[in-house]
Amino acid sequence: MRAPVLNPLFASITSLPGVGPKLAVLYGKLLGRDEPRVIDLLLHMPSGTIDRRARPRLNEVQPGQIVTVSVTVEEHRPAPPNRPRAPYRIVTSDDTGTLTLTFFHARRDHLEKLLPVGEKRYVSGTAEFYDGMLQMVHPDRVVDEKGFADLPLVEPVYPLTEGLNLGNVRRAMDGALARVPALPEWQDEAWVSRERLPPFAEALRSLHKPQEPSDIAPESLAWTRLAFDELLAGQLALALMRAHMRRQAGRGTSSEGLLRAKVMKALPYTLTHSQQQAVNDIVNDLALPQRMLRLVQGDVGSGKTVVALIAAATVIEAGRQAAIMAPTEILARQHFATIEPLAKVAGIHVALLTGRDRGGERKAILDRLALGEIDLVVGTHALFQDEVLFHDLALAIVDEQHRFGVHQRLALTQKGDAVDVLVLTATPIPRTLVLTYFGDMDISELREKPPGRQPIDTRTIALDRVGDVEDAIGRAISEGKRAYWVCPLVEESEKIDLAAAEARYEDLRRRFGSKVDLVHGKMKAAEKDAAMARFASGQSQLLVATTVIEVGVDVPEATIMVIEHAERFGLAQLHQLRGRVGRGSGKSTCLLLYKGPLGETAKARLAILRESEDGFRIAEEDLRLRGEGDLLGTRQSGLPGFSVARLEIHGKYLGAARDDAKLILERDPQLQTERGQALRHLLYLFGKDEAIKLVRAG
Ligand code: ADP
Ligand code: MG
Repeated sequence: MRAPVLNPLFASITSLPGVGPKLAVLYGKLLGRDEPRVIDLLLHMPSGTIDRRARPRLNEVQPGQIVTVSVTVEEHRPAPPNRPRAPYRIVTSDDTGTLTLTFFHARRDHLEKLLPVGEKRYVSGTAEFYDGMLQMVHPDRVVDEKGFADLPLVEPVYPLTEGLNLGNVRRAMDGALARVPALPEWQDEAWVSRERLPPFAEALRSLHKPQEPSDIAPESLAWTRLAFDELLAGQLALALMRAHMRRQAGRGTSSEGLLRAKVMKALPYTLTHSQQQAVNDIVNDLALPQRMLRLVQGDVGSGKTVVALIAAATVIEAGRQAAIMAPTEILARQHFATIEPLAKVAGIHVALLTGRDRGGERKAILDRLALGEIDLVVGTHALFQDEVLFHDLALAIVDEQHRFGVHQRLALTQKGDAVDVLVLTATPIPRTLVLTYFGDMDISELREKPPGRQPIDTRTIALDRVGDVEDAIGRAISEGKRAYWVCPLVEESEKIDLAAAEARYEDLRRRFGSKVDLVHGKMKAAEKDAAMARFASGQSQLLVATTVIEVGVDVPEATIMVIEHAERFGLAQLHQLRGRVGRGSGKSTCLLLYKGPLGETAKARLAILRESEDGFRIAEEDLRLRGEGDLLGTRQSGLPGFSVARLEIHGKYLGAARDDAKLILERDPQLQTERGQALRHLLYLFGKDEAIKLVRAG
């Protein structure tokens, strides 16, 4: 149970001043959470400051500079009656000069109250020369002596979303800060004092109420403190999961390797060196009496499915079962299609189980799984539903493409006794990040591509030239080639996106007729399958798609990939999409259509794709360019990302956070000491509730 002391932070954001249900929706968008809470706002970091500390006299004011000046109000000059749209001017002065304040659409009574003639006021804003006169249009702040005492001279600026302004956020933030309770220190006290890091509450205050612009730099002590908190929470959660898995001692599963050999013999090719290495790693892990936690990282098309199948064959030979879980229906079917013929030759019984299966057939699969008549099941989330029972599940293979979190992995492993875990991931993650997202896992990398792959010719083309692209597609179609045309899903509303994809489809359909098909996420599964099948068989040759095809379509005959609005996609995502072509022996092309003008970063990103097909290198470059935890497109995929830690800056603390987490659990595995209790607060604050359940489960 969450300690009551934390309750004010977990109250709805609507409990803050000025936040009603309407703004709450906007905050939801801003903070990436359906029902945002006070803590989510507090962890929304400022992106800059407005510095009002410059206090020149009027004859010292630099045009364009933000200043706060102290002036006496001399005269009001309302718009003349014959020109009601002219601005309302107010002349002010100090003993060095005059400053005219200019207001458009002003309300006279309001201005007379705000700036009474003869009174002294503090005015803050940007001054410019206009007609040789010093002017300030719509000052940001006008306060009297009393107001000046409370005026923050350094104001934080936040990333916003349309409809929310800085005033809204600052006001809500003030309210949020007032709710932060005094909390016991969860970090190592000696370390915190040696590094001069402020306590949690103070760090929040310093970031949201900066005294100096440098207070909100990611390198500041306050930000570092919060980043370390976030990293520690993440590492502690991962360590708890690992400890939990280790507690249930593993079971060695070894076999002579006969079934493995049969599968390999059924392959129309030999394994690459790195596939063979991964297989060796896995076979060794499985034989050990500890549980396996291994990550197989490999680019799209590097051949992970076969590695997974061979791993499964190892436990199946020992009379046990394996499961492969994929993030989408399409991908599950794809795996199944690859695996089934090979399994048949080797005498392995496989079944496909997805959310779509119902009734008798589903019942039959469930019965046979429970009896152990099915050796290997391939499926989606459907696999961790309660009614799915295994006879003896030994190996859970999760092809996660970053779509599953820790708890889903866990859910599947709880379906057996000391289940070994193999995670497949298609976006190569830089080593620095593996730790962050996967914790303490062993890693096998598939760095080589299967032989015979031809390089993909990648080009960037301005969207204005879409007509030329359509012409080229027309030629390719008449030569019997197959192409994908991907439309982005980026608008706020899925409806608008879909409309864009449908419009493109209509447009292409007018030109190329029944050779064109459309798939998108809102289609019924059966329709989607039918469209995919038509494309796979060559009945249609141009598949217009939203990003649903990103994960797992394997049509080796497809050789052209068009990506519309490539500038809107992440680098990793573009790389994934491109990986849908270049799978067969034909020469492949990828056309990245972009809408200019491109910013520097967008240019650099597209250039990397032109230059390289090495997913590991692309991932490193992506990290360098973004310098953020959003590398994997975490927002879209729901992977727990970071609110506070910036990996290029705070990544260096990752090792320390991991060591701390390990030490903490060695000394206090149930988090029961005083510090342990404080650490529970930390886990809640950073949304690691599921890890706390593992503590309780013991
Ligand atoms: P991934 O899951 O890593 O994206 P897949 O396992 O789907 O890749 O493999 C991509 C394609 O490469 C499949 O058609 C598969 O049959 C083929 N393949 C896998 N390993 C090899 C290999 N060693 N030599 C040749 N082709 C291979
Ligand atoms: Mg695959």
